[in-house]
Amino acid sequence: MFDCGEGTQKQFLIAKLGFNREMRILISHMHADHILGIPGILHSMSFMGRSRDLEIYGPPGICDFVKCTTETVKFRPMFPIRTADVHAGTIAKTDSYAIKAAWADHGVPCLAYSLIENDKPGRFHPAKARELGIPKGPLWKMLQMGKAVKVGRKRIDASKVVDPSRRGLKITYAVDTRPCKRVIELASGSDLLIHDGMFSSDASERAREYGHSTVAQAATIARKSHSRNLALTHFSAIYEDTKQLLAEAKAIFPRTMAAEDLGSLELP
Ligand SMILES: [Zn+2]
Ligand SMILES: [Zn+2]
Repeated sequence: MFDCGEGTQKQFLIAKLGFNREMRILISHMHADHILGIPGILHSMSFMGRSRDLEIYGPPGICDFVKCTTETVKFRPMFPIRTADVHAGTIAKTDSYAIKAAWADHGVPCLAYSLIENDKPGRFHPAKARELGIPKGPLWKMLQMGKAVKVGRKRIDASKVVDPSRRGLKITYAVDTRPCKRVIELASGSDLLIHDGMFSSDASERAREYGHSTVAQAATIARKSHSRNLALTHFSAIYEDTKQLLAEAKAIFPRTMAAEDLGSLELP
């Protein structure tokens, strides 16, 4: 989960995401609109019987915040919570994905994050393996790992029974930030870039002053980073709807959407 604004636990329930799912919370920065949902979601998870660990990462200050909001109300969660103040670089690695961070440009320490899935092995076809006379067992395992095997005198390449590997997805989250070179580098080749698009293009002076981006700047970042999709978010309340903002961004980067509450997007 990228950031945890006020009321997140309610949206989490409506979206039926499941309070016991494997997850980490990645906090961009210590402004109220990005962290005030943490106490609520921790209480809801505990109440709903979460048993899995939860890790919460963020820039310096996040550990103190979580400690304060749990200890002062004598909250004893039913599951282990681990917090870590993190900096730029690779901050987590699992068997299926890595998380990288880079400093954004917002006036206070603010991290942009990329979630990078590992490539997944291609699908194995047992029927084809049987047809080729390969007995079930260790040889199947080797083929699934992409290795060639020998059956009698015949050498059989993995490509005969395993589809090509599937590319893992990359999702980058950069909110709140002015246009930033480090974010372009972090976002390189993202399948989805979620970016600050607080203001219309004619308010670039205001965006710079408040440490945010215009939608045109966000679209330019998407283009420069060779991202495949852009989701704009963090719109200023001065705009009644996002139609004009979306049109401005699409003129620069056509594959742009305006993120909405409870919206979803399928990435191929
Ligand atoms: Zn902020
Ligand atoms: Zn904000």
